[in-house]
Amino acid sequence: RLEIKNLSRSFAGRTVVDDVSLSIMPGQVTCLLGPSGCGKSTTLRMIAGIEMQDSGEIWSDGELICNTVERIPPEGRGIGLMFQDFALFPHLTVAGNVAYGLRGRRAQTRARVEDLLAKVGMSAHIDRYPHELSGGEQQRVALARALAPRPRIMLMDEPFSGLDDRLRDEIRDETLDVLKAEGTAVLLVTHEPAEAMRMADEIALMRGGRIVQTGAPYNIYNTPIDREAAAFFSDIN
Ligand code: ATP
Ligand code: MG
Repeated sequence: RLEIKNLSRSFAGRTVVDDVSLSIMPGQVTCLLGPSGCGKSTTLRMIAGIEMQDSGEIWSDGELICNTVERIPPEGRGIGLMFQDFALFPHLTVAGNVAYGLRGRRAQTRARVEDLLAKVGMSAHIDRYPHELSGGEQQRVALARALAPRPRIMLMDEPFSGLDDRLRDEIRDETLDVLKAEGTAVLLVTHEPAEAMRMADEIALMRGGRIVQTGAPYNIYNTPIDREAAAFFSDIN
């Protein structure tokens, strides 16, 4: 499991992530939920190792990932990333994109690529190029690519926001199935309560850089910590 302890970050004297602590359990989806600008992406980037924290530390299965002195580089953290602009490499085929981060023997790589493309329902498109795919198909390939090196943890920052409503529901559910089948722990960032309710095992509600409440989706929905939290959830049904 991943333990985030007392992470903080300021930009130009303004604290945008303020003493954030979180646990991310294997096989679970944890949602970091909060309004625009509350510090979700900054938190995710610090966990990924592409942004430095001012204070706090991150542990993975009892191993120190980083504090303010020592740090394992991003590629050594066993962490996969999926962002909104998931851009595939345009000059590589679907198979080439999924194999990109893999090292090792060719036959093994090919087997892993084929297995993942089957899981995301893209086997028929293995030799196509990204511009020959729809947005939803590209999203599926991006998921396979992120999963290829078998990350212990997948960090997802609003990965579904570029899709239309119907497709988004479909891809969300498929993504969940694939991630659960792979046993990957997930930290999903979203500003949409409905998405968190649909996907999360655990929600961490964030506001103004702080986590104000954590709990199972229906606990947070039924017993919001204050009026502001209640209002935030009030427009979903
Ligand atoms: P959204 O839902 O809109 O993506 P967010 O919760 O992901 O929002 P962040 O991107 O983490 O928010 O940004 C939090 C705050 O920190 C914002 O006010 C943002 O302008 C500020 N910020 C983020 N990165 C930097 C930076 N490199 N330099 C200065 N300010 C930054
Ligand atoms: Mg963001």
